[in-house]
Amino acid sequence: MRIIVIGAGVAGLAAAARMASAANEVVLLERGPSAGGGLNLNGPFTLTLPAVLRDLFVKTGGRKASGGGSLEENVSLVPVDPVRRYVFADGSSLVLPNTARGAAKDAFDTAFGNGAGASWLSLLDHGNRAWSAIRPTLVEVPDATRGELWRLYRSGAGRRALTPRRTLRQAGEGYGFRDPRMSAVLAEYALGAGADPRVAPAVLAIRPYIEHAFGAWRVVGGGPELARAMYERCLARNVTFRFGAEATAIASGAVTLASGERLTADVIVAAVDEQILRRLTGGAPAGERASKASTAAGYSPSLLSAHLHASKDLDLPHESVFFGDTGRDASNARLDALFADPAAYAASGGLSVPADPTLRISAAPEQPREFFVHVDVPAGLSDEAAHGYVPTLVELAARRLGLSSDNALTLQGTVTPADRERLTGVPGGSVNGPAITSVSSALLRSPTVQPVKGLLHVGASSRPGPGLAFAALSAWNAAEVLRPTRI
Ligand SMILES: Cc1cc2nc3c(=O)[nH]c(=O)nc-3n(C[C@H](O)[C@H](O)[C@H](O)COP(=O)(O)OP(=O)(O)OC[C@H]3O[C@@H](n4cnc5c(N)ncnc54)[C@H](O)[C@@H]3O)c2cc1C
Repeated sequence: MRIIVIGAGVAGLAAAARMASAANEVVLLERGPSAGGGLNLNGPFTLTLPAVLRDLFVKTGGRKASGGGSLEENVSLVPVDPVRRYVFADGSSLVLPNTARGAAKDAFDTAFGNGAGASWLSLLDHGNRAWSAIRPTLVEVPDATRGELWRLYRSGAGRRALTPRRTLRQAGEGYGFRDPRMSAVLAEYALGAGADPRVAPAVLAIRPYIEHAFGAWRVVGGGPELARAMYERCLARNVTFRFGAEATAIASGAVTLASGERLTADVIVAAVDEQILRRLTGGAPAGERASKASTAAGYSPSLLSAHLHASKDLDLPHESVFFGDTGRDASNARLDALFADPAAYAASGGLSVPADPTLRISAAPEQPREFFVHVDVPAGLSDEAAHGYVPTLVELAARRLGLSSDNALTLQGTVTPADRERLTGVPGGSVNGPAITSVSSALLRSPTVQPVKGLLHVGASSRPGPGLAFAALSAWNAAEVLRPTRI
């Protein structure tokens, strides 16, 4: 079979490698100059569900026993411990350990008082129930429909697992989260999935559960290193890459490029954002997004990131979250700005207000003087506003890290929302694509099997959802559709 994959992000690379390993002829079109997409802008990142990438490398290793090697033979994959350090506005902190249930309970009890650990474990158990309910029915079923979700709703066990009327925050409160700092930790998981914490559905408890149950990992060398390994695996399976090849239209069995060239194929795999896909197929942007002026409206926030170098070694964990002012009014205003009306936020000079934002810092022990600092900003924030804020961001990072004046920070580079949009094409440089506002927007994203005959959709804005692991899982789903036994 001849297959065209559009987009060389993690999802496109995974789909191309899998499909080429099944004796198909695969051409991968990428509008940029290299493979990796968003992987190239992340800095150190956290990989959850490593089994998805492990399976990819095993299944695409070729026939010989020596094959192309496992994931671990191609990149240095190491567990992170602690997973994350949370530092709250009052100076207190929570150090979250990797996987161990007892240690997680102790960490919460130590940070928030006796009973907090049991509450956290109850939330993880909720996530476990939800994951067990959706994995075989919706997550790993490429052609699952809304009907599958309704079937879950109709069964008592399914309803208990999904608690469709509850938000994640309410679920936490139901399990005894009394301390607002615990709710702030939960809100970070919602934001990390591209959901407004005020409306994020309880089913997103799967995210802390997955991280806890399957561990948090990192690739030494970060996103570019994973991109290299996946690209090389594709080359080993004879995938043909065409860089600088932007698709401008998709019809059944044909792709037109910006150059005017027309390519034909039996199957087309769009590994691009949902809004790009709608444009390519000539469809209207989905639902409410169509009525809004900004192309990024309805999309989850972007990140403004600065890559910094310190003049002395730092002792930073893999990831830290420094909460800013978590006062109710301040955080409501910030979330309104991030999710509801990015254009108004930018116009009001939102970022120049001396707000006290939450900062995320990621670092790798191999480079003890380097780190990335990220702050949530609305998708679509202009370069002018973003660059204007960078000095404040650097100052805030130094302050939150408690750096003395003899440990100076030098700016190595910045990544603005516009940079992200330029690299990936995702509207406004949104990190997680369409915002999650409900159970169905979390679980029924753009389907793998599209209405156009022979067209499949993979990537962070398709099913099962955002993040590296799910983007790679979407490629597994797409490859499953093509298995002869399913046709
Ligand atoms: C700062 C940051 C930190 C992150 N940290 C983590 C983390 O710790 N853990 C985690 O799991 N996830 C993380 N993510 C999210 C993760 O990086 C993304 O979910 C993932 O990279 C998305 O991959 P993708 O293949 O769906 O899309 P992309 O990476 O966006 O790839 C799409 C590709 O398609 C190409 N393309 C677009 N349009 C066309 C066209 N018309 N023709 C040809 N090619 C086209 C683009 O150029 C791009 O290369 C992070 C993201 C950011 C920005």
